Amino acid sequence: MRTVVQKDKSRVGGTGGRTVRGGLAVLAVTALAAGCTHNPTDARPATVRRPFLAPAARALDAYATRLRAAHTARVAAAKRWHLKQVPLTAPPPPAKKPRITTREGFEVDGHEELGLPPVFTTVPTKEKIVFLTVDDGAEKDPAFLRMMRELKVPYTAFLTGFLIKEDYGYFKKMQADGVTLNNHTLHHPYLPGLSRAGQKREICGMQKILARHYDKRPTLFRPPYGSYDEDTLRVAKSCGIAYAPLWAEEVFADHWEYRERDRDLHPGDIVLSHFRGRRHWNGTMCDMVRRFLDKVTAEGYAVARLEDYL
Ligand SMILES: [Zn+2]
Repeated sequence: MRTVVQKDKSRVGGTGGRTVRGGLAVLAVTALAAGCTHNPTDARPATVRRPFLAPAARALDAYATRLRAAHTARVAAAKRWHLKQVPLTAPPPPAKKPRITTREGFEVDGHEELGLPPVFTTVPTKEKIVFLTVDDGAEKDPAFLRMMRELKVPYTAFLTGFLIKEDYGYFKKMQADGVTLNNHTLHHPYLPGLSRAGQKREICGMQKILARHYDKRPTLFRPPYGSYDEDTLRVAKSCGIAYAPLWAEEVFADHWEYRERDRDLHPGDIVLSHFRGRRHWNGTMCDMVRRFLDKVTAEGYAVARLEDYL
């Protein structure tokens, strides 16, 4: 049996000076101003008719108004949270989802034949998008929830049982904001070191906890430390897991780390971060989000919702 262990990551600081690009294109629609029928020679009081807008034009006008309002709110939120730039808006979800396959070198025996959940670090796409994933659940910073809600930046959570049980409510709020809560085991063990039964308790046990508290069984699972073997994926599949996303980059409050040697972002990259605060990090979760957004925006990337591509 093959055990896949994530390679050591080198620490890299700084984000590099990149050219600033992009910005939300705001659709400006000029309302059709139909002339009024007032005839100055007419002694009768002027009758001002409402400008006529065909239903399609009205809908477009309402759409443009909504878009402008959303952009204004985004600009204000970016300023409030001290971002260097307004985050870019992700393209609409793909009409046809990409085929997700296991990254080369990350397969276990019988991976494809057994239909085991694919293990991947990047989603195949040509769009300049990245995905943010946040793990574990140790820090429960209310400011992080506010920041993400106001900036409308999507992310996906991978939760560990023993860390969330002290405050299930915090993640309930996150779920209400549209965040998917996924499986990161009960106790965060090194899974290849456990028997198949032990792995099953960790993974399928967490499925039950999430279903009980959040009314939803996740289909995404991330093995702690990115380490897994064939048993891990067999067991995960047996309790409803369809995907095992890993990550291409990791962002902290004060630096980035990269899996690839080019130390760069790529379309479809999955970025890892953690629920951590000053106790563990040189900064807060909001500092992490700032570091994340300032780099991805400066490099012309928008943040998309991982679930939209799976
Ligand atoms: Zn973890």
